[in-house]
Amino acid sequence: MSAATPRVAYFSMEIALEQALPTYSGGLGVLAGDTLRSAADLALPVVGVTLAHRRGYFRQHLDSHGNQSESPAEWFPENSLLEAPARVTVQVEGREVQVRAWRYTVRGVSHHEVPVYLLDTNLPENSEVDRALTDTLYGGDPRYRLCQEVVLGMGGAALLAQLYPAVSLQHHINEGHASLLILSLLGRRLGGEQRTPTVADIEAVARQCIFTTHTPVPAGHDSFPAELARAVLGARIAGLLDAAELWSDGKLNMTYLALRCSRFINAVAHRHKEVSQEMFPGFPMTAVTNGVHAVTWTANPMRELFDKFIPEWRRDSFFLRHACTIPLDEVREAHGRAKRDLIDEVVQRTGVQLDPKAFTIGFARRATPYKRADLLFTNLERLRAIAKHTGPLQVVYGGKAHPRDGSGRDIIKRIFEASRELGAAVRVVYLENYDMSLGRVLTSGCDIWLNNPIPPLEASGTSGMKAALNGVPSFSVLDGWWIEGCHEGTTGWGIGGDRENPRDPSGDATDLYDKLERIILPMFYGLPYRYAEVMRNAIAVNGSYFNTQRMVLQYAYNAYFVEPAMAPAPEGAAVAR
Ligand SMILES: *Cc1c(COP(=O)(O)O)cnc(C)c1O
Repeated sequence: MSAATPRVAYFSMEIALEQALPTYSGGLGVLAGDTLRSAADLALPVVGVTLAHRRGYFRQHLDSHGNQSESPAEWFPENSLLEAPARVTVQVEGREVQVRAWRYTVRGVSHHEVPVYLLDTNLPENSEVDRALTDTLYGGDPRYRLCQEVVLGMGGAALLAQLYPAVSLQHHINEGHASLLILSLLGRRLGGEQRTPTVADIEAVARQCIFTTHTPVPAGHDSFPAELARAVLGARIAGLLDAAELWSDGKLNMTYLALRCSRFINAVAHRHKEVSQEMFPGFPMTAVTNGVHAVTWTANPMRELFDKFIPEWRRDSFFLRHACTIPLDEVREAHGRAKRDLIDEVVQRTGVQLDPKAFTIGFARRATPYKRADLLFTNLERLRAIAKHTGPLQVVYGGKAHPRDGSGRDIIKRIFEASRELGAAVRVVYLENYDMSLGRVLTSGCDIWLNNPIPPLEASGTSGMKAALNGVPSFSVLDGWWIEGCHEGTTGWGIGGDRENPRDPSGDATDLYDKLERIILPMFYGLPYRYAEVMRNAIAVNGSYFNTQRMVLQYAYNAYFVEPAMAPAPEGAAVAR
């Protein structure tokens, strides 16, 4: 089976297509890749659009003190991909920039194909500056970023119009980076006419757009000064923003642009919906909780176990619900193999030999202050005492800091410092260059997956879902997906107060130590089969639900293939009638 006529175009600044291609930085890209993998499995008529990112995000290097340095993660799309049979031109700062696209194919379980177009401006026709526009993911200054967003949104929409003429597409705007596609659709609707867009024009565009917002952190929402936007977009496109009153407080805010011009708006977990609804009152939202692609994120030992007991799981993730029938001994044995693979990886990369019998805590995410990667080291003395009296423990870390996030870089250094201070009392290793393959080794090989951001800043989080698929329970702050996935003592454990009993997050470290000391370690060492039940529940209860098969089906059922329901025009969004 090959690609059907597409009906949904999924736009994302980053898409994690495969380990070998550095076209992603973290959670957003992995989610985008998992979404397309599940769309292919479900044989849905979807195409993806992103940028080529020839120099990737970056490769992370850490010295012996945890100082991060970066080098480009270069790749050459022409070595493995074919060029799409169309090229387009976008206007950037008054220049005509040529854009080509590389076609990557995501193949589903039954061979359905989802094409992904990676836009690339590295053409001899373009100036040096323009050739570099699609080089570096999240690199450069605001001007560079806005130029990239023109290529992604306007270039992507123009490309699809050429490749699939006369096809009416739904555009899924996966985070505001792609919002400019709205202006492309609006411009196309008006044709060459110089008239002012009406409410009907905006509604017609909105009927083709679905928007997913991904972060409650204000800095995560792209916003550009009007002067910069006018300079980059040019008079004609900026004129559309003027006429349709799509500026926000005198700025080009990509989130507001998408909120105003999408018929369906969602957040990525139920809690995140509440937080986002408060941030953006007047734009009715729903929640579609994130997931992960089950087969991609299950490590080999667990794959073999599922193949033996629930072979249908590869075609249909819902079958993971039947993991509750797998004998506990087999779950323990498969996890033991995944743990040995992690320990081998650690020794290979760092020379540190971890103890296969010791309770192993895993933590990997972008190093940035609100994620509090160093919370575990709030009180080293207490941690030492727990390891000494309750049972040995060791910790494996991973995660990059954005090159310009100084506080994030400092967090990595603090973990190296704590590691040195703890020495053999609690072994702590930090693995550099966290990426998809390391992600799978880490989330499958630990005994518990720790996550402790300051609530409510975690939109969803997905690495804990990968852990669940591998029978690794989460121990996490009750935020994001974990509010939905945590059944205390059954699928894992919560940290800090819940919504009904909010607590000062400064008490989270104490809560973490208390539970580790009184509940989790005693169960792990004293009641191993009780612990294995929690592991199995993580698979059966959470793995069967927090996957992208369920998530994509929800998008299909609530947004992609349903009659566009128009939200009432929000107050204050005045447009000429
Ligand atoms: C899954 C994954 C993420 C996202 O994990 P979160 O829990 O959402 O932070 C980031 N980076 C890599 C490499 C991943 O595999």
